[in-house]
Amino acid sequence: MKIKYCNVLVTKPFNNTFTYKAKIDQSVSVGDLVIVPFGRKNDQVGIIYEIADSLKSEISKLKIKEIKEIYKNLKFKKDIIEFIDWIANYTLAPKGLVLKLFITNNKLVENEIKIIKDYNYNIKKINLNSEQKNASSFLKKFLVKKFNSIVLEGVTGSGKTEVYFEAVKNILKQNKQVLIMLPEISLTPQLEQRFEKRFGIQACIWHSKISEKKRKEVWQKSHDTNSFVVIGARSSLFLPFKNLGLIVVDEEHDMSFKQEENIRYQARDLAIVKAKIEKIPIILSSATPSLETYNNIKKGKFKHFFLSSQYSGLDLPDIELINLKKEKLDKDKWISKKIIIEIEECIKNKSQALLFLNRRGYSPLTLCNSCGYRYQCDNCTTWLVLHRNKKRLLCHQCGSIYPIQSSCPKCECTDCLKLIGPGIERIAEEVKTYFPNNNISLMSSDNANTPKKIKKIVEDFENKKIDILVATQIMAKGYHFPDLSMVGVIDCDSGLMGGDLRAIEKTYNLLQQVSGRAGRTKKTGKVFIQTYYPDQPVIQSFKSRDRNGFVEQSLSEREQFKMPPFGFINAIIISSSSKIHAEAYSRKIIKEDLVPKGIEIFGPVEAPLFLLRGKYRFRILIKGDNRQKLNKFTSNLVKKTPEPSNVRLIIDVDPYNFV
Ligand SMILES: [Zn+2]
Ligand SMILES: [Zn+2]
Repeated sequence: MKIKYCNVLVTKPFNNTFTYKAKIDQSVSVGDLVIVPFGRKNDQVGIIYEIADSLKSEISKLKIKEIKEIYKNLKFKKDIIEFIDWIANYTLAPKGLVLKLFITNNKLVENEIKIIKDYNYNIKKINLNSEQKNASSFLKKFLVKKFNSIVLEGVTGSGKTEVYFEAVKNILKQNKQVLIMLPEISLTPQLEQRFEKRFGIQACIWHSKISEKKRKEVWQKSHDTNSFVVIGARSSLFLPFKNLGLIVVDEEHDMSFKQEENIRYQARDLAIVKAKIEKIPIILSSATPSLETYNNIKKGKFKHFFLSSQYSGLDLPDIELINLKKEKLDKDKWISKKIIIEIEECIKNKSQALLFLNRRGYSPLTLCNSCGYRYQCDNCTTWLVLHRNKKRLLCHQCGSIYPIQSSCPKCECTDCLKLIGPGIERIAEEVKTYFPNNNISLMSSDNANTPKKIKKIVEDFENKKIDILVATQIMAKGYHFPDLSMVGVIDCDSGLMGGDLRAIEKTYNLLQQVSGRAGRTKKTGKVFIQTYYPDQPVIQSFKSRDRNGFVEQSLSEREQFKMPPFGFINAIIISSSSKIHAEAYSRKIIKEDLVPKGIEIFGPVEAPLFLLRGKYRFRILIKGDNRQKLNKFTSNLVKKTPEPSNVRLIIDVDPYNFV
């Protein structure tokens, strides 16, 4: 019998595979998961990438080690290998680290978890309105084994979830698996409940906060079980699905789909690639599809269905702008009289109000009234935010905690703390002065940081234990509150000032999502927006609900400046605890390089967040008219100038974050 040589990819930062030989009695095939000896004494999990009968001449036969163990019942499909290759090529991350995304545990244990192989769904029949029925039969045409990307757009409250649940039902009947992706863990509890109500069984949940046991169970099930549904965050893309029949990306526009740590990827975009590789349909659901998605609809690449009315049959909420240049606020007050009157009205009618401000804590800037000293983080270029509830100053970048000092560190003045601007804690304090007898609660990532805590606040609000909720963007998405009839946006201007590529789109979406919380069930809601710039085109198009106008305008601006999706960007971020080394290396990378036509380099420049967690940061932006050309150029730059040991380099393909 001939010895088989296997090229194995291991979960280490390498792009290449390593050659091992199979023992005589081992039968091997591509995609097998194996354990191989690696380095001095460590064993590594890996995957057989290629099999060869003979060796390449440069490798000595004697040096080749044997595969230690082959998992009998664990194997990755060819589709997954193709997916790993694609991700590595696109994100410029080493293949071995991409593999690591798929193998979350270096000690896979076979048959450790007993799993049910068959599910008994008890699917409830529900009544869809005629628009939903149309949407559902539109989707049905695409629920076959063929790649199709379908955008399900619908105003908030139009019942998109019920429509895609119909598609899920259809795929389950075909005995296949479904993946429903959400941008944030905070959204899983509500969808979980809705799923269970509809399907009579729990869906499997996958995100970073589930237990180790659950993690193993869901991983194994996705590998083994038919007609099985996962509701998951970004990383659910990397489960070893056996026979996936449909992917749904809910809230597809949401920028949290962009992974900002380790390997940087856009999970929605990767989901589309996965669907393409597996030749299956994908549904992108949103009330505010992203500009990239609109562009794909325009070009005819994506199919599109629009649900234009609320399920309840109610009209969409009225939007009223409050011009703060005219209606002056009192000193250290942030809520206009108009909004106070409306809350009063709301409470009189036994309904609920929501005040929205996308700023955690009590006040975003703390300074000394006597000498002007500003409290700043020692490790970052950021001001410290006062959190009165926690009685601390916090750095929102690195999470450092500082005590509130009784005297100024610079001039030693006591009682000179001056608090500039509001966070939600300060807004809640102000509301309390007007409505001392009502229940006022906060919701932000400070108190809603686990699915359980989120569930509690959402339930309390649903059950009307809360009259007025003051919240950040955490509550803008997906939630359904029947008795919420009034939304007040405290400050919509700060979001429009941010200079980055997607700041305005993000703000527009956020406004639309927040205002969509009002008046979904019982009566038409009202939305009030405080602004100093009521004439801004974005605010005007929002007020008149002219989303198409906004989209056309934004796309034509991006086209003019060759920004995504009309051009391509890579960012290189260089950081080091030594400012000199970071800067020198940043300059070295781009030095003496012939820049080909169609590629432009900007920088290096000091990053807006120059100091972060004690590291100095520089940024280089590379723009190109072709993705492949740009990626090749970027990886060559980096390869040619390897980073010194005290400098860290990150490549961010399609950056969302420019700080
Ligand atoms: Zn001072
Ligand atoms: Zn910090």
